[in-house]
Amino acid sequence: MRMKRKGILIVVSGFSGTGKGTLMKELVRSYENYSLSVSMTTRGPRPGEEEGKEYFFVSEEEFKRQMEEDGLIEYACYCGNYYGTPREYVERQLEKGKDVILEIEIQGALKIREKFPTALLMFVMPPNAAELKKRLEGRGTESRQVIDERMRRAAEEAEGIDEYDFLVINDRLEQCVEEMHGLIQAAHSMPVRNSELIAEMRKELEAFK
Ligand code: 5GP
Repeated sequence: MRMKRKGILIVVSGFSGTGKGTLMKELVRSYENYSLSVSMTTRGPRPGEEEGKEYFFVSEEEFKRQMEEDGLIEYACYCGNYYGTPREYVERQLEKGKDVILEIEIQGALKIREKFPTALLMFVMPPNAAELKKRLEGRGTESRQVIDERMRRAAEEAEGIDEYDFLVINDRLEQCVEEMHGLIQAAHSMPVRNSELIAEMRKELEAFK
Protein backbone atom coordinates (compact mmCIF):
# COMPACT_ATOMS: atom_id res chain seq x y z
CA MET A 1 0.00 0.00 0.00
CA ARG A 2 1.23 3.47 -0.88
CA MET A 3 2.29 5.44 2.19
CA LYS A 4 0.77 8.80 3.01
CA ARG A 5 2.79 11.57 1.40
CA LYS A 6 4.88 13.42 3.98
CA GLY A 7 4.99 17.18 4.13
CA ILE A 8 8.27 18.91 3.38
CA LEU A 9 9.75 22.03 4.86
CA ILE A 10 10.22 24.72 2.21
CA VAL A 11 12.46 27.66 2.98
CA VAL A 12 11.94 30.73 0.82
CA SER A 13 14.46 33.55 1.06
CA GLY A 14 14.98 36.67 -0.96
CA PHE A 15 16.12 40.25 -0.50
CA SER A 16 13.73 42.50 1.38
CA GLY A 17 11.42 44.03 -1.24
CA THR A 18 11.56 41.10 -3.68
CA GLY A 19 7.82 40.56 -3.25
CA LYS A 20 8.15 37.14 -1.67
CA GLY A 21 5.37 37.87 0.83
CA THR A 22 2.85 38.43 -1.99
CA LEU A 23 4.27 35.46 -3.85
CA MET A 24 3.84 33.11 -0.89
CA LYS A 25 0.30 34.31 -0.16
CA GLU A 26 -0.60 33.62 -3.79
CA LEU A 27 1.00 30.16 -3.69
CA VAL A 28 -0.94 29.21 -0.55
CA ARG A 29 -4.17 30.62 -2.04
CA SER A 30 -3.72 28.77 -5.34
CA TYR A 31 -2.96 25.27 -4.03
CA GLU A 32 -4.34 23.29 -1.12
CA ASN A 33 -1.34 21.55 0.28
CA TYR A 34 0.70 24.49 1.53
CA SER A 35 0.78 26.02 5.00
CA LEU A 36 2.55 29.29 5.62
CA SER A 37 4.34 29.60 8.94
CA VAL A 38 3.86 32.92 10.76
CA SER A 39 7.09 34.13 12.37
CA MET A 40 7.65 35.94 15.62
CA THR A 41 9.47 39.27 15.51
CA THR A 42 10.59 42.13 17.73
CA ARG A 43 10.15 44.56 14.79
CA GLY A 44 7.16 46.89 15.08
CA PRO A 45 4.22 46.37 12.70
CA ARG A 46 4.20 48.30 9.42
CA PRO A 47 0.98 50.11 8.54
CA GLY A 48 -1.55 47.46 7.47
CA GLU A 49 0.23 44.55 9.14
CA GLU A 50 -1.89 42.56 11.57
CA GLU A 51 -0.95 40.57 14.64
CA GLY A 52 -0.90 36.85 13.83
CA LYS A 53 -1.22 37.44 10.08
CA GLU A 54 2.12 38.78 8.85
CA TYR A 55 3.88 38.21 12.18
CA PHE A 56 3.40 37.70 15.89
CA PHE A 57 4.77 41.01 17.18
CA VAL A 58 6.48 40.52 20.53
CA SER A 59 8.81 42.34 22.94
CA GLU A 60 12.49 41.41 23.12
CA GLU A 61 11.82 39.90 26.54
CA GLU A 62 9.09 37.61 25.18
CA PHE A 63 11.27 36.64 22.22
CA LYS A 64 14.15 35.64 24.51
CA ARG A 65 11.78 33.62 26.66
CA GLN A 66 10.64 31.68 23.57
CA MET A 67 14.28 31.08 22.61
CA GLU A 68 15.15 29.74 26.04
CA GLU A 69 12.11 27.46 26.15
CA ASP A 70 13.04 25.97 22.75
CA GLY A 71 9.83 27.34 21.26
CA LEU A 72 11.57 28.40 18.03
CA ILE A 73 13.07 26.04 15.44
CA GLU A 74 15.42 28.79 14.27
CA TYR A 75 15.92 32.49 14.82
CA ALA A 76 18.15 35.28 13.57
CA CYS A 77 18.87 38.95 14.06
CA TYR A 78 18.17 40.97 10.90
CA CYS A 79 18.81 44.73 10.68
CA GLY A 80 18.56 45.11 14.46
CA ASN A 81 15.44 43.03 15.06
CA TYR A 82 14.91 39.41 16.03
CA TYR A 83 12.90 37.03 13.85
CA GLY A 84 12.10 33.39 14.61
CA THR A 85 9.97 30.42 13.51
CA PRO A 86 7.57 29.05 16.16
CA ARG A 87 8.06 25.29 16.52
CA GLU A 88 4.59 24.00 17.34
CA TYR A 89 2.73 25.10 14.19
CA VAL A 90 5.44 23.79 11.86
CA GLU A 91 5.57 20.36 13.51
CA ARG A 92 1.79 20.02 13.57
CA GLN A 93 1.38 20.91 9.87
CA LEU A 94 4.18 18.56 8.76
CA GLU A 95 2.50 15.74 10.70
CA LYS A 96 -0.68 16.45 8.76
CA GLY A 97 1.22 16.00 5.50
CA LYS A 98 1.28 19.69 4.61
CA ASP A 99 4.21 21.37 2.90
CA VAL A 100 5.20 24.13 5.29
CA ILE A 101 6.65 27.35 3.90
CA LEU A 102 9.08 29.39 5.98
CA GLU A 103 9.75 32.82 4.56
CA ILE A 104 13.04 33.53 6.30
CA GLU A 105 16.45 35.08 5.71
CA ILE A 106 19.67 33.22 4.97
CA GLN A 107 21.09 32.64 8.48
CA GLY A 108 17.83 30.96 9.47
CA ALA A 109 17.72 29.06 6.17
CA LEU A 110 21.12 27.52 6.83
CA LYS A 111 20.13 26.54 10.36
CA ILE A 112 17.04 24.81 8.98
CA ARG A 113 19.18 22.88 6.50
CA GLU A 114 21.35 21.63 9.39
CA LYS A 115 18.37 20.53 11.49
CA PHE A 116 16.20 19.26 8.61
CA PRO A 117 18.46 17.90 5.87
CA THR A 118 15.52 17.23 3.53
CA ALA A 119 14.26 20.83 3.66
CA LEU A 120 14.03 22.50 0.25
CA LEU A 121 15.77 25.87 0.00
CA MET A 122 14.52 28.33 -2.62
CA PHE A 123 15.82 31.81 -3.32
CA VAL A 124 13.63 34.46 -4.98
CA MET A 125 15.36 37.30 -6.85
CA PRO A 126 14.00 40.45 -8.46
CA PRO A 127 14.83 40.89 -12.19
CA ASN A 128 17.63 43.38 -11.30
CA ALA A 129 18.98 45.59 -8.48
CA ALA A 130 17.36 48.82 -9.76
CA GLU A 131 13.96 47.10 -9.67
CA LEU A 132 14.62 46.01 -6.07
CA LYS A 133 15.34 49.58 -4.99
CA LYS A 134 12.24 50.79 -6.83
CA ARG A 135 10.08 48.20 -5.07
CA LEU A 136 11.48 49.13 -1.64
CA GLU A 137 10.85 52.83 -2.30
CA GLY A 138 7.42 52.07 -3.76
CA ARG A 139 6.28 50.47 -0.52
CA GLY A 140 6.34 53.94 0.99
CA THR A 141 6.60 52.50 4.49
CA GLU A 142 10.36 52.62 4.98
CA SER A 143 12.67 55.58 5.67
CA ARG A 144 15.61 56.38 3.37
CA GLN A 145 17.97 55.03 6.04
CA VAL A 146 16.11 51.72 6.28
CA ILE A 147 16.03 51.38 2.46
CA ASP A 148 19.81 51.97 2.25
CA GLU A 149 20.42 49.45 5.01
CA ARG A 150 18.26 46.82 3.28
CA MET A 151 20.04 47.37 -0.07
CA ARG A 152 23.38 46.89 1.71
CA ARG A 153 22.03 43.77 3.33
CA ALA A 154 20.88 42.48 -0.09
CA ALA A 155 24.46 42.80 -1.37
CA GLU A 156 25.63 40.65 1.56
CA GLU A 157 22.83 38.13 1.13
CA ALA A 158 23.64 37.72 -2.58
CA GLU A 159 26.90 36.07 -1.46
CA GLY A 160 24.95 33.14 -0.02
CA ILE A 161 22.67 32.27 -2.94
CA ASP A 162 24.82 29.28 -3.97
CA GLU A 163 23.68 27.48 -0.80
CA TYR A 164 20.12 27.22 -2.10
CA ASP A 165 18.59 24.38 -4.15
CA PHE A 166 16.64 26.57 -6.58
CA LEU A 167 16.62 30.14 -7.80
CA VAL A 168 13.47 31.80 -9.13
CA ILE A 169 13.06 35.27 -10.62
CA ASN A 170 10.00 37.16 -9.47
CA ASP A 171 9.16 39.10 -12.60
CA ARG A 172 5.56 38.11 -13.29
CA LEU A 173 3.64 36.95 -10.20
CA GLU A 174 1.49 34.14 -11.69
CA GLN A 175 4.36 32.72 -13.67
CA CYS A 176 6.60 32.69 -10.62
CA VAL A 177 3.92 30.97 -8.49
CA GLU A 178 3.52 28.24 -11.13
CA GLU A 179 7.26 27.79 -11.38
CA MET A 180 7.68 27.44 -7.61
CA HIS A 181 4.82 24.96 -7.37
CA GLY A 182 6.36 22.85 -10.15
CA LEU A 183 9.76 22.83 -8.47
CA ILE A 184 8.25 21.82 -5.11
CA GLN A 185 6.32 18.97 -6.74
CA ALA A 186 9.51 17.78 -8.42
CA ALA A 187 11.36 17.94 -5.10
CA HIS A 188 8.77 15.55 -3.61
CA SER A 189 9.84 12.89 -6.12
CA MET A 190 13.51 12.94 -5.18
CA PRO A 191 14.74 9.74 -3.45
CA VAL A 192 16.11 11.77 -0.53
CA ARG A 193 12.52 12.76 0.40
CA ASN A 194 11.14 9.23 -0.03
CA SER A 195 13.41 7.15 2.15
CA GLU A 196 10.54 5.29 3.90
CA LEU A 197 8.87 4.40 0.62
CA ILE A 198 12.17 3.11 -0.76
CA ALA A 199 12.86 1.08 2.39
CA GLU A 200 9.39 -0.44 2.20
CA MET A 201 9.85 -1.42 -1.45
CA ARG A 202 13.24 -2.97 -0.69
CA LYS A 203 11.67 -4.98 2.14
CA GLU A 204 8.86 -6.25 -0.07
CA LEU A 205 11.38 -7.24 -2.75
CA GLU A 206 13.47 -9.21 -0.27
CA ALA A 207 11.03 -12.11 -0.72
CA PHE A 208 12.01 -12.39 -4.38
CA LYS A 209 15.71 -12.61 -3.88
P1 5GP B 1 10.74 42.13 7.16
O1 5GP B 1 11.12 43.02 8.29
O2 5GP B 1 10.99 42.77 5.81
O3 5GP B 1 9.34 41.59 7.30
O4 5GP B 1 11.69 40.85 7.21
C1 5GP B 1 13.07 40.99 7.22
C2 5GP B 1 13.73 39.66 6.90
O5 5GP B 1 13.50 38.73 7.94
C3 5GP B 1 13.18 39.01 5.61
O6 5GP B 1 14.29 38.52 4.86
C4 5GP B 1 12.35 37.87 6.14
O7 5GP B 1 12.30 36.78 5.22
C5 5GP B 1 13.13 37.48 7.39
N1 5GP B 1 12.34 36.71 8.35
C6 5GP B 1 11.01 36.77 8.60
N2 5GP B 1 10.67 35.89 9.53
C7 5GP B 1 11.79 35.20 9.87
C8 5GP B 1 12.06 34.12 10.78
O8 5GP B 1 11.21 33.59 11.46
N3 5GP B 1 13.36 33.71 10.87
C9 5GP B 1 14.35 34.26 10.12
N4 5GP B 1 15.58 33.74 10.26
N5 5GP B 1 14.14 35.26 9.25
C10 5GP B 1 12.86 35.73 9.13
